[in-house]
Order: sequence, then structure tokens, then C-alpha cells
Amino acid sequence: MTRGRERAAWVGYLRVSTPGQAERELSLPAQCAAIAEFAARRAVTIAREYADVGVSGTDPRRREYRRMLEDVYAPGSDIKTIVVHHTSRFTRDATEARVVKSKLAKIGVNVVSVCQDLHDDPMGKLMEGFFECIDEYESAINGVRTASAMREAVRQGYFPGSTPPYGYRSEPIAIRSGVVRHRLVPDDVEAEIVREIYRLYIAENGAKTVARRLNHRGFRVRSGRLWSGAAILRVLDDTTAAGTYYWGRCATRSKQARPRSEWTCLQVEPIVDPSVLALAMTLRERRCPRRNPGRPPAPVHVPSGLLRCGQCGASYQLETSGKRVDGDVYRYTYYNCRSACRVGSELCPGFRVRTGDLHAAVFHHLADIVCTDERAADLRARVRAAHAVSVERVGEIWRSLLLHDPLVKRTYARHLIDRIDVSPTRTLIEARRA
Ligand SMILES: [Zn+2]
Repeated sequence: MTRGRERAAWVGYLRVSTPGQAERELSLPAQCAAIAEFAARRAVTIAREYADVGVSGTDPRRREYRRMLEDVYAPGSDIKTIVVHHTSRFTRDATEARVVKSKLAKIGVNVVSVCQDLHDDPMGKLMEGFFECIDEYESAINGVRTASAMREAVRQGYFPGSTPPYGYRSEPIAIRSGVVRHRLVPDDVEAEIVREIYRLYIAENGAKTVARRLNHRGFRVRSGRLWSGAAILRVLDDTTAAGTYYWGRCATRSKQARPRSEWTCLQVEPIVDPSVLALAMTLRERRCPRRNPGRPPAPVHVPSGLLRCGQCGASYQLETSGKRVDGDVYRYTYYNCRSACRVGSELCPGFRVRTGDLHAAVFHHLADIVCTDERAADLRARVRAAHAVSVERVGEIWRSLLLHDPLVKRTYARHLIDRIDVSPTRTLIEARRA
């Protein structure tokens, strides 16, 4: 076993949950100074510092925290001691604290706190466990307090969130000196787009078509990306446009949906008429695939998901056009790039291939691989060995030959092999024999 460098270095870990954290002794410079002084008293220097700003101690994905642990576990790492200002800086999750610290202890790394200078003995361990539980409890209590303060703000007509719903912006209002609240007010540009979405959707367009129209006219979502059918449906599902915003629809940390009785409603200036919203909802319900399946299930199209677009890398999917024949099958079926089908030519121009052409191409490619002379001879021998062989039996033998070929198994799904028609296979064998 190769031993890494001797662990001797001390590093500091700092964290503030909000950029302007209220408690002054917990500001980054204060934490930094306390750690430096703690190290100086022990005649050691802090080799480097890791600082997370604006992240919760309950979030295990903190960037600098993860980077520090990666550095600790890196082969040849020299990190011996991690210094924090307070146990709550390391994590506010007591279980994680126990698990991470015991893993670190196994490789000879310890975590020490400036405020809680604990000894490495049973009493020290007990005290550390207490502190970790208190850190978690404080965090949970803070969460409850913040949530109720936010709910109260909503009751008073203020918007406590960070991202306003589409069509609105969050406008700061100084309610008294030093206290700023926010109100939801319609955003001129976005509100006009929301109205246009409703107009287009009610004029018998599907969400995908609405998205394509907006993209074509140069409109983009907030992130600058193209509109998609799903983004349009999110706008249509949001009741804020008609004047009612619901706060607390899902839990902040777990993202789990909350029951409707726990939502708090905030009245805002509507940007569409409630009757327009109701009409759009009725249409949405009518077009809902659960209620109205619309089209019959498409037949299995084998290459879907196996093919990729050469222009954008998205998968190829089935695209249909033309009227349904006898109400159940689309007359024209194609494969096309998923980006082109779902978003439109602004994202990818796509390339349509008729399903029949593609299936033939795949079949011919497959036949070139599997219809070797060796196999044809094998098949011929087996057919000769049997007395009376039906066409179906030839197909069965063929399939069993193909299924045992590692290349075929790797390249093509088994159900494609099952679909191979016996007659063209026979024709091919005849052709090879000749
Ligand atoms: Zn594409």
C-alpha cells in the first residue's frame, strides 16, 4: 500500500447563509479573523480557506464544502484539520455531521470549532453531538419562523418570494425606514406575451403551436431560451394572470406539493380577464390526453430513441401528418428530430425521413451484417436436415441464428429481430446462393 503525504495542513471552512447575515460575529471576515487567531494560538497557519456564501447549512451540495471534501479525500492530500468558527458552519444536519465527521476521522482528519473548543474524549464527543443537534434544531425553528413571517407578508399583500410568476415583476416598496417589502406588479412586456399566449391558445392552437409562433416572432422565455409546449402550459396553468397568486404550493426544501388548504392566496392586478382564463382552462381540460386520448397508440417504431439528429444531437421521434385513415392511423408517418418537432426550426431545422424508407434502410443494413455466407450455409444445412419445413419454421431457424449473434444482440433490440419478415430474408439467401 502506498502511503500519501503525511497529513499536517490546517484549512478553514467559512459559511454565511445570506450575503448580509444579520449576526455580525458570523460575517465572513469575522469568521476568518477568529479562525486565524485560533490557529495562531496553536502556532499553526491556515493553508487555505473554503467559503460558501448565501447557502444553507442544510444543503449538502454546497460548492466549496464539496470542493473541500474532495481535496481532503484526494490521493496524497495533506489536510489534517478543518477549522470552523462554529459547528453550525460545517453543517446544520446532525446526521450528516456524524456521518461525515466519522468518515473523516477514519482517514485521520478532524474538524475543530473555534467557539466550541472540545476535547477528543468521550465527554467532548457527547458535547459535540449536543451542539450538532442544537444547530439542526435552530435551523428547523428558523425555517418555521421564516415561513410564518412570509405567510403573514402574503396576507398583508406582499410578495415574499424571489422569482415572480411569468407576466409579473417584484417591485420593492419601502414600508418604513429600513424595511423593504415587495409587491407583484404586471411586467409590461411579459404581460403582453401572456395575453398573446391566451389569444393563440383559445384560437384553437395547441400549446406546441403557440410556442412555435412565439419563437418564430422572436419571443423567448426569461432565461433567453426558446418557448416549448411545456412552458406554454405552465403559463396557462398559473392563475396569477387572472389576479390570484398562490404562495406555498410546495415545500421549500423537499419541493413536495402541499395540500391546497395550506396555500395562501395573494390578490394581484390581473393581466387577463378571469373569463378568458376559465375558457382556456375548459379547452385545456377538453384537450387533456387523460380525458381525451385523441389518437390511437402509435405502432411500435423500432428506431425511435436509437437514432440521433446529426445537427443537434437530439433523439429522433415519430412525426405524423395528414388525415387519419378510418379514424385510427395517420396516413403519413415520418421520423424527425425531437427538437424540430417540439420547439421548431429556431432550435433545429430537423430532417424528415419517411418511416418506410428508414425501416428499409435499417433492414438492409441489418441484412448486410447478418446474412453472411456462413449463416446461409448453416441455414441450408438445417433446412436440409429437416424433412418438411414450413416458411414459418425457416423464419424461426433464422431468428434463432440471429439471436445468438453477439453483434446483432448488441446493435439491435430483440423486438426488431422478431419483426424480420421471412420472405425478404429468403430472397436475400437465394440471391447470395446464386
Ligand atoms: Zn436536430
